[in-house]
Amino acid sequence: MADLSKLCIHTITTKPWKLAESVEQYARVGVKGISVWQDSAMELGAKESGDIIRGNGLEVVSYVRGGFFPNVKSAEREKAIDHNKQMIEEAAELGAPMLVLVCGAEPAQTLEESRKQIQDGIESVLDFAEKHKVQVTIEPLHPMYADTRSAINTLQQANEMAEAIDSKWVGVAVDVYHLWWDPDLENQIKRCHAGGNFSAFHICDWNVPTTDMLLDRGLMGEGCIKLDRIKKWVMDTGFDGFHEVEIFSNKFWEMDQKIFLDKIVKSYSEYWED
Ligand code: ZN
Repeated sequence: MADLSKLCIHTITTKPWKLAESVEQYARVGVKGISVWQDSAMELGAKESGDIIRGNGLEVVSYVRGGFFPNVKSAEREKAIDHNKQMIEEAAELGAPMLVLVCGAEPAQTLEESRKQIQDGIESVLDFAEKHKVQVTIEPLHPMYADTRSAINTLQQANEMAEAIDSKWVGVAVDVYHLWWDPDLENQIKRCHAGGNFSAFHICDWNVPTTDMLLDRGLMGEGCIKLDRIKKWVMDTGFDGFHEVEIFSNKFWEMDQKIFLDKIVKSYSEYWED
């Protein structure tokens, strides 16, 4: 039996299931961690969702997702800050130690300006995050999302921002789907950990060919990402957090989710044995 003690699954991965069913099924196959997407928590509310998760012996790893700070209009940027505070409150009610940020980008302005607004936005919610004991976690996204989803596209940019903000209430999420192509990835993983900013590690695979820019992620081992190499870089830093399976996939959402869950556990076990 493979060691599943660091296996976490994002609820979006089994999107057709409601939260209670995800929790029950994850627990049944031995998954230990769960990252909760807001839409899956809202049916029962954050507090009850957290109680159900812990009642089934799982740990809440993160709450997803805040961010989307940049906008050309200052009133809209203020709204985003309010929204992020609300998400931090929900994360605290859920019992999540971190809120993952999809930082946002505004196509009407430069990426540099968007990054400045992201940093301003994060700094505006830091006291609130500290008060609620919820870390806000910058997740760099693949540059194909630089139009509207994130102006932070490399681990270097995320590291630089986390170092500039310099607070234990800010961290960085390393997602292999977004970062596998980066020639400086090994160095930046080391830097992320050395700076005390390495908070989360997300895994899946890049399908070849990829048929959808958002909803065609693969199971570990199905695509072109050299996962064994990235896993080694991460483990060599001493990172001891969860390995979070985050797969958006129309193909997998169409199948029986129990069969899909078995596939996740199998591919995770093989990923871990490499
Ligand atoms: Zn991710």
